[in-house]
Amino acid sequence: MIGLNDIQDARSRIVGHIISTPLVCSPALSDICGVAVGLKLEHYQTTGSFKLRGATNAILELSEAERARGVVAASTGNHGRALSHAARAVGSRATICMSRLVPENKVSEVRRLGADVRIIGNSQDDAQEEVERLVAENGLVMLPAFDHPAIVAGQGTIGLEIVEAMPDVTTVLVPLSGGGLAAGVAAAVKALRPNAKVIGLTMERGAAMKASLDAGGPVLVEEFPSLADSLGGGIGLDNKVTFATCRALLDDVVLLSEREIAAGIRHAYAREREILEGAGAVGIAALIANKIAVLRGPVALVLSGRNIDMDMHRRIVNGMSNSVGQET
Ligand SMILES: *Cc1c(COP(=O)(O)O)cnc(C)c1O
Repeated sequence: MIGLNDIQDARSRIVGHIISTPLVCSPALSDICGVAVGLKLEHYQTTGSFKLRGATNAILELSEAERARGVVAASTGNHGRALSHAARAVGSRATICMSRLVPENKVSEVRRLGADVRIIGNSQDDAQEEVERLVAENGLVMLPAFDHPAIVAGQGTIGLEIVEAMPDVTTVLVPLSGGGLAAGVAAAVKALRPNAKVIGLTMERGAAMKASLDAGGPVLVEEFPSLADSLGGGIGLDNKVTFATCRALLDDVVLLSEREIAAGIRHAYAREREILEGAGAVGIAALIANKIAVLRGPVALVLSGRNIDMDMHRRIVNGMSNSVGQET
């Protein structure tokens, strides 16, 4: 398991490469909840999500020789962006494999961040096969989005910063998918504040970590379109790090409907003046839907990312939509 030392080491490694984001008070949510609510503005992280922390830590942990070979992943989303940026920043090179179905704007965004993009096949599985071929034949180093000790330790630096900015924090709300963010933040927060609760938040349908925790081991779940698209995908049937850590350290996992996530995005925009993607808004969504049972004292929420399609964002904040591709 990842310890406080690993996370402190990660911080000294990545400082200067990432932004130590502010934790700001939300008067509106503090009023609603009756306790102080602090927002960890991780959507201001370079590349628009916290994923740069883990990606940077993982690349900096590689040997010179490994960095020279280059890194590879199959993410079309925030991990792909983060890995591309982090690799370029240290003079390495990322190769991001994508299927032909990935929209052109996502392809060009990753290219703009300096990655080699390989378009291959018609599915994420085809793209993953290409990743494995590049590892086996060309010696590239695969860096996954969450299930890797250096990735978890990098994301855990958010937990250190939360406790420093809010020493009396009693509850930390963290978006949850593969669990790299939640495992890292929980490891840091529980080491420094053993009595604080750390709660994972995710969407109702296709919540792989929640289903796996309930089943007592990693399980496959069906995927559905969600406003929280960054929370989709499985945790890996051969999960090595994040499942065990989430099982040991998370106090609860709370599920949110599409309508509740949409309300979170709307509140963020109208009351906090922040643009969030669905995954980044689940903490706010849980508070305004009154889904966190007991709030004993100061609460911190991780606003994890802002990479939302702006047409969809406009429809949501105008009250024209509460879900992906479906008008209300
Ligand atoms: C990846 C991601 C998450 C979930 O992180 P995991 O480590 O996979 O649990 C949450 N929010 C955003 C914006 C993300 O990009």
